Amino acid sequence: MRGISPVPSYVVMQPTTLCNLDCAYCYLPMRAADRRMPVAVAEAVAASVNRWAEAGRFSVVWHGGEPLAAGREHLAALIAPFGPQVEHHVQTNATLIDDAWCEFLAAHRVRVSVSVDGPRGRNGDRVTRAGRPAYDRIVRGVAALRRHGLPFSALAVVNDPEPGRAAELYDYFLGLGCEVLGVNIEETEGVNTRGNAHEAAQVRAFWAELVAAWRRDPRIHLREVEWSLRYAAAVLDGTADGLLPRRLDPIPTVGYDGSVVVLSPELAGFSDPRYGDFSSGNVLTTPLAEIVAGAERTTGWVGEFLAGVEACRASCPYFGFCGGGHAANRYFELGRFDGTETEHCRNSKIRLLEGVLDHAREHRTPAV
Ligand code: SF4
Repeated sequence: MRGISPVPSYVVMQPTTLCNLDCAYCYLPMRAADRRMPVAVAEAVAASVNRWAEAGRFSVVWHGGEPLAAGREHLAALIAPFGPQVEHHVQTNATLIDDAWCEFLAAHRVRVSVSVDGPRGRNGDRVTRAGRPAYDRIVRGVAALRRHGLPFSALAVVNDPEPGRAAELYDYFLGLGCEVLGVNIEETEGVNTRGNAHEAAQVRAFWAELVAAWRRDPRIHLREVEWSLRYAAAVLDGTADGLLPRRLDPIPTVGYDGSVVVLSPELAGFSDPRYGDFSSGNVLTTPLAEIVAGAERTTGWVGEFLAGVEACRASCPYFGFCGGGHAANRYFELGRFDGTETEHCRNSKIRLLEGVLDHAREHRTPAV
């Protein structure tokens, strides 16, 4: 893997900066303000996306703020410019989902991913703007999805990877009925400055416990664990070199105002005296395809990040699994883009792979 691909596999769109919740670990800087994406921004993005989608599978991920806070009418107007071949996804806190939203999501064939951190007691960080627990509202939204037969994924943030936590988490999501589960150890990024350093053995044991829980009843696709197993199998087959894409996916994030930040959605809305506002252009003045294709050349911090990826390649035995990590984690943890190890990559790459291998070692069949 070297450099950035000129064509992404998906685009992240911010229909509004507003979120109706105020979660303690949220990284978003403008979540109290309702700045809505004009339809002209969606039309400009669609001009590039519709062409990309002709060549193969392509997704638009509606991410906020809380995307449903933009309202059905406005979200429909933003979706309208995209061709029927484009897949739509929404990352939502689910608190606004009711029967009318379910009908909307089904009619527009929007795939849903719900943010929820496990059982009620594990959702203490997920609160309303008035500081009240959001859990009951999240569960009501999930119940509406189930009533309408809409499949959904789930994304859980874990800030306490203590023993027993992984098994509890997995059992909870089995009961919730999601099809795919992603697990994030809390990250220090954006306006969330809480520390994310954990004892290595504890994080490793968390991932090993999660694999064990999943293997007992593997009805849910477990994103991180299945990727780790794919990597381990590819190493054994001697095909690991071909597993990561040849070039990094640029993952353009289009902010509410049309500005485009590549590689890390978490950098959108921030600025720095050295790097400016991190954006590579604005779709209202330059086609998205042109912004993405030129980002490596036009955006100073991207070159610094690619130097960091090369430093990872030269120094880290986990590079083939990780591919060099995320730009936002480097920036928010190290203050620059050309460093290597972060707490995030220790928690969610290195300890993950070690935990999966620990589980495999514990359960291997003795040689005969
Ligand atoms: S695990 Fe960390 S240090 Fe290793 S390649 Fe990934 S980001 Fe770089």
